[in-house]
Amino acid sequence: MIAITEEAVVERLRRVQDPELHRSIVDLGMVRGVEIRDGRVRVDVRLTVQGCPLTHRIEREVREAVAGLEGVAGPEAVDVHLGVMDREELARLSATVRGGAAGAPVPPSPFATGALATRILIVASGKGGVGKSTVAANLGAALAARGRSVGLLDADIYGFSVPRIVGLREVPRVITDGVIIPPEAAGMKVMSMGSLVEERQPVIWRGPMLSKLLAQFLGEVQWGEPDYLVVDAPPGTGDVAISLQGQLPKGAILLVTTPQELATSVAARVSAMAARTGQRVLGVVENMAYLQCPHCGERTRVFAGEGGAVLARELGVPVLARLPILPELAEMADAGRPAVLAGGDSEAARAFDSLAAAVDALEW
Ligand code: ADP
Repeated sequence: MIAITEEAVVERLRRVQDPELHRSIVDLGMVRGVEIRDGRVRVDVRLTVQGCPLTHRIEREVREAVAGLEGVAGPEAVDVHLGVMDREELARLSATVRGGAAGAPVPPSPFATGALATRILIVASGKGGVGKSTVAANLGAALAARGRSVGLLDADIYGFSVPRIVGLREVPRVITDGVIIPPEAAGMKVMSMGSLVEERQPVIWRGPMLSKLLAQFLGEVQWGEPDYLVVDAPPGTGDVAISLQGQLPKGAILLVTTPQELATSVAARVSAMAARTGQRVLGVVENMAYLQCPHCGERTRVFAGEGGAVLARELGVPVLARLPILPELAEMADAGRPAVLAGGDSEAARAFDSLAAAVDALEW
């Protein structure tokens, strides 16, 4: 008979990750104790919150990990006891997750350092109302529908519309000081200022507070390492936009414009900003480029101008998509339904899917 040791059990438990914090439950201090008696193994696990939605998954993974150990008769020989962390344990967990800096201001964002393989897509525009949020949310959802893992960060702090577009109902969960779990909608993890304030309430925060809020959204939210972080940037090239770009030096910019926009001045401002932050401009999306007849398929240009093409030429980047005017978007918004179109078989869903394919095919 092979003797089971506590160390061997703990070693096995290292493989079990907390599904929200994406770290080993051993490193997170969630394994409170291991007891071995008469061939049975008892493991005490402390969860971060009572009624944690992922309790069953953690319990099953702990049981399977230990059952695989030589000398353990099988899953029936493993007793998993679940409890909840006390304040001290939560404080230690906070320090671990935040990089050993308990009570420190805001930990550095892993997205800022380039330590992650995540592609950071900053969806920007010269001004408001061109469909930037619509494109960011639907592009994110289309990437998710293609099997990519996606985080969607709504950094359009004054004009947040992402929660409504993606049908976000849950709010973020604060596990402990500075450890925030983002809610999910449309297949993405989503963080928005809109989750933190009542709808229709004006956001009165200014410069430094907004920068700090963005830093928290990037440094304290447990995004994991998604394939994409899609960021709905504030419109224009003002302070909040610059602060955001500064916090995401590895981000690449996707510019949304309409045919009639004065592309030359947008191009000049965006290039100046990109030069300052060292970010690359990936390409241009021309939104509301035409209206397609649902019967004959004929395309009518509603707005005059060549905004997308001129902007792309001046910046030396490709036009990645020309999106039609999609009456569905307005109808869905009026009906209070999420206007994410991924996966459907409409003209709109296809338009966003081909944009997602174009983005996915880019060399990064
Ligand atoms: P921005 O983020 O640039 O301010 P939004 O994404 O909030 O713009 O879009 C502004 C309005 O235009 C919204 O009501 C949205 O539903 C609508 N819209 C955006 N793109 C389209 C489109 N291609 N067809 C029809 N309506 C659109």
